[in-house]
Amino acid sequence: MAVLPILITGEPVLHHTAEPVTAFDRTLERLVSDMFETMKVAPGVGLAAPQVGVPLRLFVYNWTDDAEVLHRGVAINPQLWLSPTPVGEPDEDDESEGCLSLPGERFPLRRAQLATLRAVDLAQKPFEVRAEGWLARIFQHEYDHLDGILYADRLDAEYAKAAKKAVRKRNWGDPGLSWLPGEEHLED
Ligand code: ZN
Repeated sequence: MAVLPILITGEPVLHHTAEPVTAFDRTLERLVSDMFETMKVAPGVGLAAPQVGVPLRLFVYNWTDDAEVLHRGVAINPQLWLSPTPVGEPDEDDESEGCLSLPGERFPLRRAQLATLRAVDLAQKPFEVRAEGWLARIFQHEYDHLDGILYADRLDAEYAKAAKKAVRKRNWGDPGLSWLPGEEHLED
């Protein structure tokens, strides 16, 4: 397993629709295990293939809920059904999310409370997960990556402005930027 560089906003692959997976081979198996490793080291609760430069429709997730139940898997060629997104202002404490492609930033965003994920796994076996709350949010966030949408693209005006400012300040937004999870530990 290898830790892969994570691309930062501005890299074109993050902003384009990804292609369905058609080859279920050793290369795909290796990509998925590298994505799990990269997500663990980052650390993150989800990681989509475009974030590591692969324009394919798959993501991995790994999240433990308040009842200590682990939700972990790989969703290949996923479909997602959502309950309506609640109207109103997002709550900065309860609805702020982050993204490994905008590392270190967090902004609040309303998301659907319920999501049904249908996908196949590495063995091409279909599965379904009915998610609510934060897991539903993770699925929406990761699924968006496959359509070239970052959560920063969905923010309300006030937060969108703050996000744009953060991107400028950090000199992000151009192609070719990435970071390697775990790298800062090597420099200690
Ligand atoms: Zn993300």
